[in-house]
Amino acid sequence: MKFIVRAAAVAALALAASQAGAQNYPTKPVTLVVPFAAGGPTDIVTRQLAQAMTKPMGGTVIVENKPGAGGTLAVEFVSRAAADGYTVLVHHIGMSTAPALYRTLRFNPMTDFEYIGQVVDVPMTLVANNNFPPKNYAELIPYLKANKDKVNYANAGLGAASHLCGLLFMSTIQVDLQTIPYKGTAPAMTDLQGGQVQLLCDQTTQTTQLINTGRIKAYGVTTMQKVGSLPNVATLDSQGLKGFDLAVWHGMYAPKNTPKAVTDKLNMALQAALKDPAFKDAMDKLGAIIVPPAKQTPDGLRNFLKAEIDKWTPIIKKAGQYAD
Ligand code: ASP
Repeated sequence: MKFIVRAAAVAALALAASQAGAQNYPTKPVTLVVPFAAGGPTDIVTRQLAQAMTKPMGGTVIVENKPGAGGTLAVEFVSRAAADGYTVLVHHIGMSTAPALYRTLRFNPMTDFEYIGQVVDVPMTLVANNNFPPKNYAELIPYLKANKDKVNYANAGLGAASHLCGLLFMSTIQVDLQTIPYKGTAPAMTDLQGGQVQLLCDQTTQTTQLINTGRIKAYGVTTMQKVGSLPNVATLDSQGLKGFDLAVWHGMYAPKNTPKAVTDKLNMALQAALKDPAFKDAMDKLGAIIVPPAKQTPDGLRNFLKAEIDKWTPIIKKAGQYAD
């Protein structure tokens, strides 16, 4: 009896402490965990976001890269972090494809998190080293069919957006290329420019400047609409890959049971950042589109994530040999 009373008192004290902590939150820097290497597309978006969130949060927001296993390492890390709002995940579409790609995952995207909101949608581009022989999209497909053993397709691991794009591309043209996984598309892009790998599908947040300054070549964008920051790149759809439509959505997540006062504050700061003209300007230049207000909410993220898991699971299963 005495023990039960004491345990209840300790639990009540802990709850009171965590609620008091939540009221004062944040009292130290908040870390946004990025599942891919520094300098790549997810990192670029998240660093801009951290900067824009700092003022509305009333405290410093920093970025930490935890790359590995196609982004799943970082997701697992955040799912096990203290639920106090100081360790927060920013991840992309990979959150919805990992369940179909991995036989065992040490986290459940639908039950291990509190949802903060969606951030931006980012189109992708199919790009190559400048010395890669096909000059344009029309030459690309016959070249890949004739030379598939000579071409290395780089990606950021099983579950990355570059992996998903490659899976869709290869299964559509029915050519199974050798894939080379990296810890993010930043190191993949370095090797692509160096000629160690030839082909990559990557977000416009990293490719826009490289394409527009002629440092890499682009065969097409992956969305049905052209991208404003890339006026000279046609869509893959318009060039023959009918219906090819892939944009990389991003969401913000906190560990399960993070107090509501904390998730509310994170959401308020996220929404304020998405309205910040400097953030919008940076995203415009990189081809990224800020999601509409209804998606910037916990429900907007949770419902979309569920719909995306339901959408991609059968597509990935059907892609079979192209999925690894
Ligand atoms: N673009 C990468 C991907 O394929 C991730 C990154 O490096 O940001 O998901």
